[in-house]
Amino acid sequence: MGNGKRVEGKVAVITGGGSGIGKGAALKLAEQGAIICMLDRTLDNANEVKSQIEEAGGTADVFETDVSKPEMVEKAMKDVVDKHGRIDILFVNAGINGTWAPIEELTVEEWDMTLGINLKGTFLTVKYAVPYMKENGGGSIIITSSVNGNRIFSNTGATAYSSSKAGQVAFMKMIALELAPSKIRVNAVCPGAIDTNIDDNTNISPSLEKVKMPIEYPKGSQPLEFKSGTIEQCGDLVLFLASEESSHISGVDIYIDGAESLMRG
Ligand code: NAD
Repeated sequence: MGNGKRVEGKVAVITGGGSGIGKGAALKLAEQGAIICMLDRTLDNANEVKSQIEEAGGTADVFETDVSKPEMVEKAMKDVVDKHGRIDILFVNAGINGTWAPIEELTVEEWDMTLGINLKGTFLTVKYAVPYMKENGGGSIIITSSVNGNRIFSNTGATAYSSSKAGQVAFMKMIALELAPSKIRVNAVCPGAIDTNIDDNTNISPSLEKVKMPIEYPKGSQPLEFKSGTIEQCGDLVLFLASEESSHISGVDIYIDGAESLMRG
């Protein structure tokens, strides 16, 4: 690698950039020269990240967006391009845990809310960004999926969440192939437990205990470090997938979980 910054001058759109994994990626990409455009529904947090980036000499903007609302996502992408001219990197990351409950209790509205933000939101974010990415002659899309729904199926009650996260990986593989001729790479990151604010968007049903499996793990839940991952570690992975260092990688789901999911099925 030369001395230049790794994503210098690239325009990066990040959904859910105001907190957690999105924030970690925003800071890493900004540090490496990208112009950061955060699409978030929680403006206070996103504006704090914007200030942090600007104080460090970078460029960042916030576009109020609920990723489950097509008209808002479409407008946000247009606003990004009107202001910054292009989209090179798309980090499709906004998501919620939603309600974890026994299947008889999980309501249709709760199912729709989780799938609407996590999976439909992924579709909308990609759908409305792709025309601009094609105009540039390529780019990199990274989707935040999870170990849940892909390697881990023992978080009983997280049915809607896990289904949304599995759907994202199938979606990623479909469009990785479809968009390859347009030189757009598409990959997914699948985190295990990461220290973020996701608990604020988690609704655990009191009756979950009734359906929980009595599973006991070996000592330590993340055998590599014996603790949750950090947003900085996730940011490093997103930066790698966004940069030219991963120029031959597309259609791949990468686990970032300290080997946790290898102990659990
Ligand atoms: P977080 O709550 O800290 O951040 C989520 C961000 O997304 C927030 O800024 C929030 O305002 C935004 N957001 C939520 N719903 C939105 C919507 N409808 N429209 C626009 N913005 C919205 O949580 P996080 O842990 O950083 O979660 C980010 C992603 O990581 C999610 O897709 C989550 O499923 C995934 N994930 C997290 C973990 C973990 O352990 N934290 C593990 C695996 C996967």
